[in-house]
Amino acid sequence: MAKQTTRPARNSADYGYPSPDMMALSARALAVSQRLTENYGVSTWSKKDPMSMLVDIILSHRTKDEQTAAAYDSLLKKFGSWEAVRDAPTNEVQDAIANVNWPEVKAPRLQTIMRQITEERGNLDLNFLRELPVEEAAAWLNRFEGVGPKTTACVLLFSCQLPLLPVDVHVHRVSGRLGLIGKKVTADAAHNLLQALLPNDPRSIYNFHKALLRHGQRVCVYEHPRCGKCAITDLCDYYKTVVKA
Ligand code: SF4
Repeated sequence: MAKQTTRPARNSADYGYPSPDMMALSARALAVSQRLTENYGVSTWSKKDPMSMLVDIILSHRTKDEQTAAAYDSLLKKFGSWEAVRDAPTNEVQDAIANVNWPEVKAPRLQTIMRQITEERGNLDLNFLRELPVEEAAAWLNRFEGVGPKTTACVLLFSCQLPLLPVDVHVHRVSGRLGLIGKKVTADAAHNLLQALLPNDPRSIYNFHKALLRHGQRVCVYEHPRCGKCAITDLCDYYKTVVKA
């Protein structure tokens, strides 16, 4: 199983620039977060417990939000509990989540993780993660096959309110265009690099994640960013170097 180092990087050329001005990058990250949060509104915390969040995030890989929600509801409606999902025939679990991408991968993956958790903990209650130091909680979750840095951070931030930044495709793309990370920085590497620019508290990290996620879905979209409708052009490298130029 893969291991993850969750300790944020500091003062590192890993940002993809020869000598990044960390204070300026940090100030820009906070300004972006603040302005986008004002624009899109403050997000409320999820009420899902950590096990439910883990299921939700695994279902959501490369899948639209509505399809993920439908598959999640379908599992609970058909089986009634995560224990019943764990013990069900895999083809029945696969049928219940047939609307997400790769149900044939996600169904056995969910059950394998659930069985491993049960073997180790005696049940499927992951609430103990809330009480662990964030590095310890992340290392515990990150050992499972198919649980990478993004899934780990989503579970720990959204459900446990521990300070760990998830970087999905939207957060990664928008951060790159803004110039908070260099073009060659991967999404996995960006977790620690971006988090090092933010205050180490769950609310600030959650605001940043949600702000960039929404901006990436609505304005700074994949193919043609709608820069004419963007509220943070003055904070964006892409705007200065490509659009204005
Ligand atoms: S100015 Fe354009 S590229 Fe920059 S964040 Fe806004 S939409 Fe994205």
